[in-house]
Amino acid sequence: MLSLKEVDPETWNLIQKEIDRQEYQLEMIASENLVNLAVMEAEGSCLMNKYAEGYPYARYYGGCENVDEVERLAIERAKLLFGAEHANVQPHSGTQANMAVYFAILNPGDTILSMDLSHGGHLSHGSTVNFSGNFYKIVHYGVSKETETIDYEEVKDLALKYKPKLIIAGASAYPRIIDFEIFFNIAKEIGAYLMVDMAHIAGLIAAGIHPSPVPYADFITSTTHKTLRGPRGGFILCKKEYAKIIDKMVFPGIQGGPHMNIIAAKAVCFKQALQPEFKLYQQQVVKNAQVIAQVFKLEGFRIISGGTDTHLVLIDVSTNGLTGAEAEKILEEAGIVVNKNTIPFDPKPPKITSGIRIGTPIITTRGLKEKEVEEIASYMCEILKNSQNENLRKRIREKIKKICEQFPFYKK
Ligand SMILES: *Cc1c(COP(=O)(O)O)cnc(C)c1O
Repeated sequence: MLSLKEVDPETWNLIQKEIDRQEYQLEMIASENLVNLAVMEAEGSCLMNKYAEGYPYARYYGGCENVDEVERLAIERAKLLFGAEHANVQPHSGTQANMAVYFAILNPGDTILSMDLSHGGHLSHGSTVNFSGNFYKIVHYGVSKETETIDYEEVKDLALKYKPKLIIAGASAYPRIIDFEIFFNIAKEIGAYLMVDMAHIAGLIAAGIHPSPVPYADFITSTTHKTLRGPRGGFILCKKEYAKIIDKMVFPGIQGGPHMNIIAAKAVCFKQALQPEFKLYQQQVVKNAQVIAQVFKLEGFRIISGGTDTHLVLIDVSTNGLTGAEAEKILEEAGIVVNKNTIPFDPKPPKITSGIRIGTPIITTRGLKEKEVEEIASYMCEILKNSQNENLRKRIREKIKKICEQFPFYKK
């Protein structure tokens, strides 16, 4: 068989360039991670050729004896990792996992109570530019202006007032622990379903660093590619009583054939997350994020909610006269990749924003610890405080490259 380089040098070249970019820049996007060779091997394997509509031992295709075992492994490991009664590992993405839950329990026009996107929520929780915002009546809760943490009183008031059929807990840009028990009690009081979307924090939950939603939520949706450090994809956990409606809605409800190569990679990811090293990794992820928050705070920046309990830090750069978009751009010039992000009550639109979101999953995977992270955070502050100084960015770019060489990933 011919290699990619021989068949399609154009694509091969772009991949080489991306390897270099990932290797020599510090990617600090909170929703990303770097998977290891084992996950890539599974994902790039011949399993991608197999159609397997249906579920293990009940397929609509022949020749499924191996992929049946692969999916069974992934399901068993997901259940074991999170202590859940049922797992569906077929959703192609986090958004499809959410869609499956909505379609399984809601009718169009039903009410969902979820977190406001601009306060840290996710598109698929009812944004008007997403199907979820068009199919359902959406009521949003947010964070309190004073503490910038979830306003549980507001959640309760809105729940009592609007009687949503579904309450969603979970976010994409929320640096604090979410109290699932409070959500559970509110949902119980009004007879609503509770769904926890743990996409961002699944790795922290698997490692026991963030409290688990399993005792409280009717449905838990997630991705495998964020803190969990697996392939791009989604999965759903639920109580046994909902197993049938969830499985039926994922397939044949909203998807066709499952991607068996991705499911194999999910099985590998869950196995790795069950190892003791994974807990140490997640602990370091949080420690590193806390170092970043501390350095920025000492340098006079305003940290949303005053700090972090998780893998991410949200920083208001407007007090330094910058927009999120400008901050993202000048940091990238120095080889540090973050994303602009709205902050709660942001007066600026989503394409500009007043904040940046900084995440530590990738730099921690590369082996960076407090000492290096402190150095990097100081560089970031220096760049943001001297936004007109292009030479400074060039100088720091060289230092970042050196750190990347000291902590190689692909070029070990
Ligand atoms: C990332 C994320 C998703 C969606 O994941 P995709 O795989 O990109 O569809 C859903 N919910 C939350 C809270 C997320 O952070």
